[in-house]
Parts: sequence; structure tokens; C-alpha cells
Amino acid sequence: MKKILSVLLVIALVFISVSFSAFATEENPDYPIDETFIEGDYEYAIIDDGTAEIRDYFGEAENLTLPSKLNEYTVSKLAIYSLSECENLETVVIPDTVTAIADGVFSGCTSLKKVEIPDAVTIIGAWCFADCFSLESIVIPKGVTKITHNAFSRCNKLTSIKVSEDNKKYDSRNDCNAVVETKTNTLLFGCKSSVIPDTVTSIGADAFSCCYLLKSINIPNSVKSIGENAFLMCTSLESVVIPDSVETVGEWAFAECTSLSSVKISNKLTAISGWMFSNCNSLSSVVIPDSVETIDQSAFVDCSSLLQVSIPESVERVGDWAFCNCSALSAVELPESLKSIGEGAFSNCTALKSVVIPKNVSSIGYGAFYGSLSDYVVVLNAECEIKNDADYSDTFMSKTLIYGIKDSTAHQYAEIRDMAFEPYCQAPDFTHDGIVIEGIPATDFESGLTDGLQCGICDEMLKAQQEVKPLIGFIGDVDMDSDVTILDATAVQLYIAQIETLSQTQALLADTDNDKEISIIDVTLIQLFVAHIIDEF
Ligand SMILES: [Zn+2]
Repeated sequence: MKKILSVLLVIALVFISVSFSAFATEENPDYPIDETFIEGDYEYAIIDDGTAEIRDYFGEAENLTLPSKLNEYTVSKLAIYSLSECENLETVVIPDTVTAIADGVFSGCTSLKKVEIPDAVTIIGAWCFADCFSLESIVIPKGVTKITHNAFSRCNKLTSIKVSEDNKKYDSRNDCNAVVETKTNTLLFGCKSSVIPDTVTSIGADAFSCCYLLKSINIPNSVKSIGENAFLMCTSLESVVIPDSVETVGEWAFAECTSLSSVKISNKLTAISGWMFSNCNSLSSVVIPDSVETIDQSAFVDCSSLLQVSIPESVERVGDWAFCNCSALSAVELPESLKSIGEGAFSNCTALKSVVIPKNVSSIGYGAFYGSLSDYVVVLNAECEIKNDADYSDTFMSKTLIYGIKDSTAHQYAEIRDMAFEPYCQAPDFTHDGIVIEGIPATDFESGLTDGLQCGICDEMLKAQQEVKPLIGFIGDVDMDSDVTILDATAVQLYIAQIETLSQTQALLADTDNDKEISIIDVTLIQLFVAHIIDEF
């Protein structure tokens, strides 16, 4: 009868493999396989120092006093999962010969109300009291120097946590109902009644994970970092203020907080870490502070109530799957600072009908908008890399209308995928204002036409060429001295001989026969005018 905690394994499979990887299983080489003996209800082994280690317990006692000796051997250790899932067990007395309680020893002892840990114990293993749903209080004695992660996970009745005042490694200062590592001021683990002391600078990994009944928590502004999984699956937690003192928050820190509807994020954070708010499906709006440069992988994945998110001008990267399955998200304004959009980043945002991808975005990952953008996308960077690979999900759905620049990567993507494409200046809410206008030069000055204006994106003629009327002077007055003299005829001659040049206006004044050419005829006409043979041109 090897007891491996099925409950833990199920949870582990569903959620985070990372932090649950310390499980011992029969395949795990750490699991003791050496010779064991039976005495009474106990299976035990003799370990290196000649003492006994309890490996298993076959009894069904409600009140149990563990033996200090088994067949003359002093009991010094409770081996991993040795008393796990003893569901009748209500109280247990551990003899003071025991120095180590290994991983998972009392896990799943769902009736366990009271346990006295003797002073001789130095180690409390991972998941040691996990799922002890009836446990209301715990005292960490003076000798404990190591408490491994998740030791009291899901002990949802736990309201009193005390550390012996003689313990040199840990304390429970200010009656905080939590364990604080004294030297580092790190809160190691707490419970639903914890009050985080304002001397704590760090909230450790898993500190409140699976604290299902934690409704609210005040994080004091002494806290600089929050570890990974710190509030994972605090399913009753309704709001949280991450104070501006906090500089880092670990992955999964607030993931699966399914009641969380209000969150204020520290303006010292430079990243929203991976999975930080994943599956917070009551969260309807988030303001990301303008200190944030990166929204990491899956940061808001499955936030199915998220209607609004403000992504500030500081953000350069939206990571893979960051907003995947945010099915209520109906509008996203991407900042000019944005440089890349990760794989699947906005996939299955079914309410998101359109988006403008700013000009600094140089890459869009596979499937980034798959299942989203029922109307259109505007891609403003002509060279933006848009992942396109038959082995992956399409980056855009085939019904998405792509607006972009002619011959751009977006245009190519549309052609390869047989999708509709239009110049971006034709997109809704876009105008030709601010678009680079490429002027068409006048054919030459003799044509008398001004430069026309044409849209460089769609070729639309915005301003036709127009005939120029001379603004000053009059025909024949080539040197513009307000009189037609023989000097004007000379100026035209020198121009025809390519000795002197004429300005555009002078050229118009020189074209006396208005044939759009300057020739010897114009010289002759000026000479005739000066000689009073003709009196107009
Ligand atoms: Zn245009």
C-alpha cells in the first residue's frame, strides 16, 4: 500500500507542472526502495545513521501517538507520504525523537485538527500538511530551519499560524498568522487570516497559493517583490492593489483568481509576467502602467470578461498568447511603441472586430489574430514580418479585410492567402491627412502647370495639376522691370542660346505667342512690340 496523493496529482496535471515537479512517485529514484520491516501498524526502514524511518501506517486511529521506537530502533524520520490520506486521523502526537517530516507526510489527512510538532524537528517537507482541510492552527517549533514549499497548501480552515519565539530562522511577527523568514523579511506562507506586516519586503513563491477562502489582502508598500504562484488560485480574492513599491511579480502570481474583479498594478513593474493574470475570468478592465515594456506569455490568457485593457506607450512587446481567449475584449488600441506581437497573442478574441497595427511593429507571430478581427486589420508597416506557414494557424482569418500599403508584406500575405486587400488610407477612420503625398512634377515650366498631388498609398489624385497664371509682371517683360524693352528680347535670345537661364515665371512671361515653347518667334514678337509694329501679344 503505497500512498501517493491522487488529489495532488490531479491538481498538478491540470495546472502548473513547474511548481509541482517535486513529486515523488514510484518511478522517481528518490522514492525509498530499500528493505522495510513491519511492526504493528507500521512499516519502517533502517536508515544510514541506524535509526528507523516510518514508511507507512496501516492503522485507522483517530487519535494517534506515533512510537518513538520500532523494534529497538529510534524513530527519527517520517518518510514521504508515510501517513498521507489517513482520513480518520484527528490528532497526532509526534515523538520528540523525530527530526524530519518529509514531503507530503500528512497530506490529505482531511480530519486532522491538531498536530504538535516537537522541537527536535528541523525539516518540514513540501506538501507536508497539504489538504489537511480541518487543520485550524499550527505552531512552528523552535528547531525548524527548513519549511519547503506548499507545506500547508489548501489548509483552508487554517487561521492561526505561530512560530515559536525561540526559532532563529522564522518568525510570525505582529501576530501576522504567517511565517516570515526573519533574515530576508520574506513571507513564506500565510492563510486566510494573515495580515502582511509592513516590515515584509518579499512575498514568497506559493505563499498564498490555493488559499481558496482569502477574500482580501493588504499588500503593504514595504513589499518589493511577489514570488511566482504567490496568490495562484485564490478563488475568493476580489480585489488587489499591488503597491507602487513592488518591482517584480513572478509568473502565475494571480492566475486562476476567478473572483478577482479589480486590480491595480504597481507603476514600478517593467513586465507583466507570464500567466500573471491567466484565467482571472471576473476581471473586466485592466490599466497597465506606463512603466511596463513587456506583456509576457499568456499574461491575460482566458480572461473571458476582460472588456477593456489599456496598453500604454511604453509597451514594446506583447508576448505569445498574452490575450488569447479574451472573448469579451472588443477594442484594443496598440501603442506606437509596440515592436512585436507574439504567437497567438490575440487569438480567439471573438469580440475584437478590428485593430490597427502601428508602424513600428516589425513582426506578428503565427496565429496572432486567428479567430479574431471579423472586420478588418490595418497594417501600417510595409515591411512587417507576418508569419505565414501552412503548418501553423493562419495569422489572420480569411474573412479579415487587410488594409495596408501596396506591395507591402501585408499585401503579399493577402495575395498568398487569397484575402481582400485595400490601401490603408481607405480604411474606416483613416483619411489622407498625414499620409505621405507624392507630388507629380509639372512636365516642365513651359507647360505652365503646377505640381499635382497624388496619394502615394492608393494613387488617388488629391489635387489636379493647374495652369499657372503669372502673378507679377506682364507678357514680354522678361526681366520684370515693368517695361517691355529691347533688353527683354536680348534676355530671351541669351536663353535660347543657353547662355543665361530664366526662372519659371520669366519663362512664362517670355512665351509671348503662348505656344508653351520659347523660341526665336518670341524674340521677334518682343522686337516688333518695342518697334510699335504690334501693340499686343
Ligand atoms: Zn490614398
